[in-house]
Amino acid sequence: MPVIEVCNVHKRYGETVAVDDVSFTVEAGEIFGILGPNGAGKTTTVECIDGLRTPDRGTVRVLGLDPQRDRAELRQRVGVQLQDSQLPEKIKVAEALDLYSSFYRTPADWRALLADLRLTEKQDTTFRKLSGGQKQRLSIALALVGSPQIAILDELTTGLDPQARRDTWQLIEQIRDRGVTVLLVTHFMAEAERLCDRVALIDSGRVVALDTPAGLVSRTSSEQRVRFRPSAPLPDHLLTDLPEVSGVAHRGAQVLVTGTGNLLAAVTAVLARHQIVAADLRVEQASLDDAFVALTGRIDPS
Ligand code: ADP
Repeated sequence: MPVIEVCNVHKRYGETVAVDDVSFTVEAGEIFGILGPNGAGKTTTVECIDGLRTPDRGTVRVLGLDPQRDRAELRQRVGVQLQDSQLPEKIKVAEALDLYSSFYRTPADWRALLADLRLTEKQDTTFRKLSGGQKQRLSIALALVGSPQIAILDELTTGLDPQARRDTWQLIEQIRDRGVTVLLVTHFMAEAERLCDRVALIDSGRVVALDTPAGLVSRTSSEQRVRFRPSAPLPDHLLTDLPEVSGVAHRGAQVLVTGTGNLLAAVTAVLARHQIVAADLRVEQASLDDAFVALTGRIDPS
C-alpha cells in the first residue's frame, strides 16, 4: 500500500519552475530516495509532502491524508528532519528531546534514542557546543522522537565524516527494520546506492528515472571491467576469443579487459587453464555515479 502518493505536482517560484509535473508513490516499509543535483527541486517536492508548501497543481496524499488540510494529524505521524533545523543555542540535548517528545501523542523513549544515536554522554551539553555530526544526529533523534510511521530525512549525512556517515546509514536501516518508511533526500550517490530500495532521480524539476539503484545502473551500462597483472605473458586472443569480452588493453604490466555477462568467471577460467596467476585482480562495475551522469548529463557535485 502506498503511504505517499505524489501526483502531477507543479510548483514555481516566480519565473523559476522548481517542480515540473512530478509523480511517484512510496510503499510502506521502503527506503525511498529522492536523488538529484543541487537545485533539482528535491526540497520543494519534499516540502509539498510535509505540508510546508502548497503545490500550484497536482495532488499529494500522505497516509491517505492531505498535507495541507490534515497538517496537525500528519505532524503526529510523520517525522521531518529539515535541512536548516536550528535549535536555540542554549538548549541542552536532553531538554530538546524532552520538549519535542511532549508534542506527540505516542512519543518514543528519548533516552533510548539518545543511546542509539550515541548522544547519551552529550545529554547535558548545549546545542551550541555540539559538533556538526552531533547536531546532525540530534536532528535525526528529533525527527524520530514522535514514533513516526514515516521519517523524512533531508541531506542526512552532509558534513559528516565517513565513519559517522556509515554509522548513520546503519541507523537508518535499523529504523526501517522497525517498520518506519523512510523518505531520503540526498545528492550522495553512495548513500542512495547503499540505502535505498528505490530511487526517483530528479533533474530540473522532473523525474528522469525511477527504479532500484541496481536498475538505474544496469539501464546505463552493462559493461564491466576486470584488471589484473598476469604472472606470465598472455596473448590477447585468449581473451578476445571469449564471447564475454569486448576489449583488451594494456597499461604497463596491467591488463584491462572490458565486457559483459559473467566476465570475471570467463577471464579467470582462461587464466587457470593456462596456469597464469592474476595479481591485483580488480572488478569494476558501473556505479550509480555513472548512471547519474548518463541520465542528467552532469557530474555528481559531491
Ligand atoms: P534542491 O533541493 O534539489 O536543491 P530546491 O527545491 O531547493 O532544489 O530548488 C529548486 C529550484 O527552485 C532552484 O532553482 C531554487 O533556486 C529555486 N527555489 C527554491 N526555493 C525558492 C524560493 N523560496 N524562492 C525562489 N526560488 C526558490
